[in-house]
Amino acid sequence: MPTDKPGAEFGSCCERLKDALTNEDFEPLFAVDEAGVLYMSVGLIDAEGEDEANMVDHPVYFCPFCGTKLQTEEEVEAKLNAEAA
Ligand SMILES: [Zn+2]
Repeated sequence: MPTDKPGAEFGSCCERLKDALTNEDFEPLFAVDEAGVLYMSVGLIDAEGEDEANMVDHPVYFCPFCGTKLQTEEEVEAKLNAEAA
């Protein structure tokens, strides 16, 4: 398995998170973006004039399954700033 696959870094704490990130049988509500930040979808917004609802994402700081600290607010900001630069 290639280690540069998105999500590989974040699936290392427990099998459940790994499953949620790599399982192809369902659409996970977790996603790692291009910057390497792990996000979780927390809801839907009905955008006016659009047919599809938009997902509302929020960075995940702790694994929701085992409680392992996955990233800090500072790390998320640094990644996003690096991506924007
Ligand atoms: Zn975990």
